[in-house]
Amino acid sequence: MSKNSHLGHQARKRFGQNFLHDQAIISQIVDAINPEPGENLVEIGPGLGALTEPVIERAGDISVVELDRDLAHRLRHHPFLAKHLTIYEQDALKFDFTSICKADKPLKIFGNLPYNISTPLIFHLLSFRDAVKDMHFMLQKEVVERMAAGPNSKTYGRLSIMTQYQCQVIPVMEIGPEAFQPPPKVDSAIVRLVPHKEIANPVKKLSALNQVCLTAFNQRRKTIRNSFKKLIDVDAIESLGIDASLRPENISLDQYIALANYLVDHQSNDQ
Ligand code: SAM
Repeated sequence: MSKNSHLGHQARKRFGQNFLHDQAIISQIVDAINPEPGENLVEIGPGLGALTEPVIERAGDISVVELDRDLAHRLRHHPFLAKHLTIYEQDALKFDFTSICKADKPLKIFGNLPYNISTPLIFHLLSFRDAVKDMHFMLQKEVVERMAAGPNSKTYGRLSIMTQYQCQVIPVMEIGPEAFQPPPKVDSAIVRLVPHKEIANPVKKLSALNQVCLTAFNQRRKTIRNSFKKLIDVDAIESLGIDASLRPENISLDQYIALANYLVDHQSNDQ
């Protein structure tokens, strides 16, 4: 049997398949998710069911989104899991999560995510935050560090700002490559994301916050004054109480919100 085969399935690199096989780690992850009966649970990439099965044992029926046709087929015919699953054989990047959101039951989303698409997938999932109670994801440790980073650190950037604006970010545990089959080349970590019920300092347009982050972090070593030359002049930056000689990693979330709101107020309508 090939070293990349697990439970008779040949792991597919293009689908980011690294299957969890360490039962102690699996239990700790399920404890962190804390699934309860009656909750509206949805798993991204159930694979061979390592997390799916213990979650169903605790919470009952769940929905899953799985892109790999063979794995979706296996789940559909699984002797225990099949009757507890609603299977969406689809790309999670394109999946409309509001389609499975019931009015009084916000979604609890979880998954050991395919690392090759984790950042776009996180951005896609954040767009459904109003329908979400919480999310638990296995990601590359480095991605969790970037999500949770505050200003004045090397890992602080667009992912930190866009995630923290929308959610509380709680790193839960770190996991080494040996918990997976095949083992990934990087360390992993579980993160809990809890969407803010209310945003204390709301931005007028989320796309403007994204735009200022892209502008700032496109060249991390440039000062804000230089990066924003074409977008916001230095006097305007200073009028917002921001020292324009700082670098993007020294600017706080609230300051990025101020820059984004300035842009919304001063950009022409066609931009
Ligand atoms: N949950 C399983 C586990 O922990 O052992 C498998 C995790 S594996 C890292 C990622 C899973 O996501 C695989 O089952 C893979 O087929 C699936 N997947 C990959 N890309 C996907 C996509 N775009 N949409 C939905 N599922 C995807």
